[in-house]
Amino acid sequence: MSECSRRTRPLQADTRLVHEGTLRSEFGETSEALFLTQGHVYASAEDCEARFKGESPGFLYARFSNPTVTMFEQRIASFEGAESARATATGMAAVTAALMGLLQAGDHIVAARALFGSCRYVVAELLPRFGVAATLVDGTDLDGWRKAIRPETKVFFLESPANPTLEVIDIEAVAALARQAGAKLVVDNVFSTPVWQKPLQLGADCVVYSATKHIDGQGRCLGGVILASEELIQAHIHTLLRQTGPSMSPFNAWVLLKSLETLPLRVERQTRTAASVADALAGHSKIRRLIYPGRADHPQADIIARQMTGGSTLLALEIEGGKAGAFRFLNALDLIRISNNLGDAKSLITHPATTTHQRFTSEERAEMGVSEGLVRLSVGLEHPDDLIEDLTQALEHV
Ligand SMILES: *Cc1c(COP(=O)(O)O)cnc(C)c1O
Repeated sequence: MSECSRRTRPLQADTRLVHEGTLRSEFGETSEALFLTQGHVYASAEDCEARFKGESPGFLYARFSNPTVTMFEQRIASFEGAESARATATGMAAVTAALMGLLQAGDHIVAARALFGSCRYVVAELLPRFGVAATLVDGTDLDGWRKAIRPETKVFFLESPANPTLEVIDIEAVAALARQAGAKLVVDNVFSTPVWQKPLQLGADCVVYSATKHIDGQGRCLGGVILASEELIQAHIHTLLRQTGPSMSPFNAWVLLKSLETLPLRVERQTRTAASVADALAGHSKIRRLIYPGRADHPQADIIARQMTGGSTLLALEIEGGKAGAFRFLNALDLIRISNNLGDAKSLITHPATTTHQRFTSEERAEMGVSEGLVRLSVGLEHPDDLIEDLTQALEHV
């Protein structure tokens, strides 16, 4: 964006999501180009040598970088307020690479136990296979984090709000504990999206996203991204990604790049609708518990007011009658579809105990707050009246 020289102040975040990072080709296209190429050609053997040595800028091979992927990385980094970003094939590739890049055998990780199922697998099962000890704590209990610290603790990991319980953790306080321990704090920010929460500003060292969710927002592509300082990326992430290859495809980067242009519009609208749905359902006799970040009755409402600038596109509902009650409710829905994705333009609902969290024992699920009656509703772009009508009629079947 250096061609514009009349600017007197930095561009606003929403504007940067439309323009930042654009690499225009010689054809001057308005829409970002899809560079569907594995590699690049060089003017000479000397030019090729210089490029490989990093002495001249430019692209080499799509496992390392690609112009469309780079546009996506620069645009999301600008919005997040991060110095550097690396795109990955999926959200789980981002989580796994961030943790493996920051840890080695003999190290210790402390993580909040209310985690997305695959994140919990990486922390509690995969990392220990490589000699990294893991301790899971109640993320809302600061004393738990403090007590878990060991001399070899190198990473703190959390999701806030957590999937699917929407439990919220005080990121600033946990970041302060991590700093004291000499550990890096990695935050999976999928549920709040970069629109409502900026963990780097709250003291986190690294943020990861599944771009599959709100960033795509229309249920099409998988993707992930790791955001941090240039120093952290260079020291821990850059070479690991290049050499092991969990790269984002240029096609997916192109879809996700275009999606970034409308991310705030979609997330703001979906959040407003989710808040209306939450207010309409609160106190319903068939709902044992309704958890919505943004309502005054959320257990961590005070922390939400401090660290988030908006609520959530997601609600957690505990339906009366356990699994049977939840299933009757899901099966009676007409407009809202049963699916495990989230952040989509279409409202989607899932029963975590039998899907995303089914591989855990019932004790582990209970510990994570995933009860048999819990359903997770991802609110889309439909009109709130249609959603409320569908949910209300389905609750009558419970
Ligand atoms: C979906 C999700 C992931 C994994 O993302 P994929 O793109 O499916 O690999 C990680 N963390 C959270 C909180 C998620 O919701």
